Amino acid sequence: MSAPFKAIIADKHEGMLTIDVSTMNDDELMEGTVTVAVEYSTLNYKDGLGLAGKAPIYKSLPMVPGVDFSGEVLSSEDKDYKPGDKVVLNGWGVGESHFGGYAEHARVPGEWLVPLPEGLSTADAMAIGTAGYTSMLSVMALEEAGVTPEDGEILVTGAAGGVGSVAIVLLAKLGYTVVASTGRTSEEAYLKDLGAAEVIDREQFSTPPKPLAKSRWAGAIDAVGSVTLANILSQMKYGGVVTACGLAQGMDLPASVAPFILRGVKLIGIDSVMRPRDQRIEAWQRLAQDLDMTKLESVVTTIPLEDVPEYAAQIVEGQVRGRIVVKI
Ligand code: NDP
Repeated sequence: MSAPFKAIIADKHEGMLTIDVSTMNDDELMEGTVTVAVEYSTLNYKDGLGLAGKAPIYKSLPMVPGVDFSGEVLSSEDKDYKPGDKVVLNGWGVGESHFGGYAEHARVPGEWLVPLPEGLSTADAMAIGTAGYTSMLSVMALEEAGVTPEDGEILVTGAAGGVGSVAIVLLAKLGYTVVASTGRTSEEAYLKDLGAAEVIDREQFSTPPKPLAKSRWAGAIDAVGSVTLANILSQMKYGGVVTACGLAQGMDLPASVAPFILRGVKLIGIDSVMRPRDQRIEAWQRLAQDLDMTKLESVVTTIPLEDVPEYAAQIVEGQVRGRIVVKI
């Protein structure tokens, strides 16, 4: 039997979800071809929902949570990886149906891993994490739909959160004029430092949406959903493009078809979890190339594994600023 290592284990006792910092060993890991010494994971909104028992994130129990990780390959039966290789992983149900990143070791199918791009450390990769990678997928979707910096302002909602913060840094570096929508207007200086040209109160997206409103946005990256997304759609310029990746406000979308049929607005869904491997590799390459890592430093708070449950409660309350990196 291998030496025990530290892990957070979610389980159920007498009908109640329990979260414990405990130990396990390699024999208890799930099926996979590559075993990784995890160096960093992160706390994502989804992790927060699972740990705080707010949504049924864990498809089976016991589960090692943590939907992403970076680290070094310990052993491999996959021809594409050898011990010592640095790797990063997001999604594929890791931390939901397959043991995840909140443990010193993880074992996964090799095809789920992405080789760490040159220029990024394992710490950088998790400073970016699933949230930052989702921001990159959103930015790439705007580019693919033809939105250029000359077209006008880009709105970013949930701006002080993980997806929003990284989206601002990326868009600003690429020359876009970014308007940040936040409920925390006290974070104006932080958001402007990331690259926002203007910071607006998210309250203005919380009123009952009209089918069409005064058009302002050439593009929008929305992590909030619900009434906010409906209001954004009604405020898009002709031919504007909105990406939707999140549901921090709610899963509903009380919108009308007017923006689509009268202004040719496009709404693009962003999924990071089941994204094909070639697109993941491209997104990570773009992050290595286009993300100003010095700016990202101000976005990151690093915590030990033991502090994860406490921060999980905060992230679901919308109280976490930027990205939470978990040092394993
Ligand atoms: P965070 O919690 O870091 O950020 C979410 C932000 O949304 C908050 O910081 C807050 O920003 C805003 N917000 C929270 N509650 C409300 C509300 N009731 N009304 C309006 N705004 C609100 O989460 P992440 O950035 O990591 O993730 C954002 C969303 O994207 C989540 O729903 C997450 O599940 C989803 N996601 C989806 C992925 C995918 O593959 N589709 C991948 C990664 C994330 P502020 O204080 O600035 O207003």
